[in-house]
Amino acid sequence: MVDSRDLLRSAADRSLRYLDGIVDRRVGPLPEQVDALARLGGPLPEGPAGPAEVLALLDDAGSPATVASAGPRYFGFVTGGSLPVTLAANWLAGAWDQNAGLVVSSPVGAALEQIAIGWLVDVLGLPAGTGGALVTGATMANFTALAAARHAVLGAAGWDVEASGLFGAPPTTVVVGDEVHISLLRALTLLGLGRDRVVRVPADGQGRMRAEALPRLNGPAIVCAQAGNVNSGAFDPIDRICTHAHAAGAWVHVDGAFGLWAAAAPERSYLTRGVAQADSWGLDAHKWLNVPYDSGLAFVRRPEHLRSAMATSAAYFPQTDRREPFLYSPEMSRRARGVEIWAALRTLGRAGVADLVERNCRQAARFAEGLRGAGYDVLNDVVLNQVMVSFGDDETTRRVVAGVQTDGTCWCGGTVWHGRAAMRISVSSWATTDEDVDRSLAAILRVARDSTDPE
Ligand SMILES: *Cc1c(COP(=O)(O)O)cnc(C)c1O
Repeated sequence: MVDSRDLLRSAADRSLRYLDGIVDRRVGPLPEQVDALARLGGPLPEGPAGPAEVLALLDDAGSPATVASAGPRYFGFVTGGSLPVTLAANWLAGAWDQNAGLVVSSPVGAALEQIAIGWLVDVLGLPAGTGGALVTGATMANFTALAAARHAVLGAAGWDVEASGLFGAPPTTVVVGDEVHISLLRALTLLGLGRDRVVRVPADGQGRMRAEALPRLNGPAIVCAQAGNVNSGAFDPIDRICTHAHAAGAWVHVDGAFGLWAAAAPERSYLTRGVAQADSWGLDAHKWLNVPYDSGLAFVRRPEHLRSAMATSAAYFPQTDRREPFLYSPEMSRRARGVEIWAALRTLGRAGVADLVERNCRQAARFAEGLRGAGYDVLNDVVLNQVMVSFGDDETTRRVVAGVQTDGTCWCGGTVWHGRAAMRISVSSWATTDEDVDRSLAAILRVARDSTDPE
């Protein structure tokens, strides 16, 4: 083990150097830095190489070709950074190399997972007794929770979907809003519930499902609501959706990948009204909790539905009355994601989570104010951490988005909102300061001016 000390110290030094440099480096890599990744390829080496040399190559060629999303001025998609304590915990957990699927293979992994689920249920105001599963992200969280939904609604109709599959099953009505996230449609696809047979409910100007347009429901039914539209940040009227759906015995699932975190911030929690009435929820930790990739959670009000949906047993698996993590999630062997979630929550506390969410929301409002002040069109009500802005016609807007990415001060992506090209700004990182917002805003406005009146 002589080598491994030096190797791990070198990795720590290199990581620190990377993170030290991230505040001032350009956010997107230069094309030549991406091209230099070719150094990592070539034919498979015939013989061994020194680990120190391999690590050096990885750092020299790899680090410059990263996107600085761990830094303070990345506003693409919905992407959190990593709170320092969560990265440190992640390093330690890497050394532990635990298989968190079973209590017997990782007592600490199982314990931290259970604690993390309990604390999240508390801080998000979900019903006491809600169970959960730790998965890779909100896509798998939606999949996992909807598997529990499928079990419950078909079970109530006398059909054992785990045993018999969907062949010959009673038809299940699945309702989504017109602004449903694509990952939820993928989850429905994987569950055999079909992407195109869903009932789509129209959305309003902010992308919220129109509750008054919900169809009459009878028989097995699942209604998928959304907390946090990926473009506008808007919330479906979850209270009205739950009232309508529950009157017909339907299941309500909430895709709350990033928006559900608003429930933890007293000044934003009005947006999530009714969310605790739902039956299941999907959440990302790698977005707004700012833990390293990958980390998401599925929550199910009645954990027995989740357990039935994932039911498995084998003679070589221990039969215990403890909470075995693998009995609640689609995977068996997996990393101990509870470690970083625990470290984040143990460090931030209730107040720190609220503060993180609230601060990013205020920074989004600061962006919106600066853009409006300069005469540009902010296309959404900035209620959360998302801002969409147009710089004129679609071609100009697309030119500004490309220009901002090339400029490198910050990174913002593009989208289309109600047929109109827009730039998206998502403020989701613990590392972003108001100064970063001002510096980014100045860069965006400079690029926009250059793109609109070429002199
Ligand atoms: C990001 C997002 C997802 C997908 O999450 P992943 O972590 O990328 O799997 C699902 N729904 C919404 C609303 C999202 O914002």
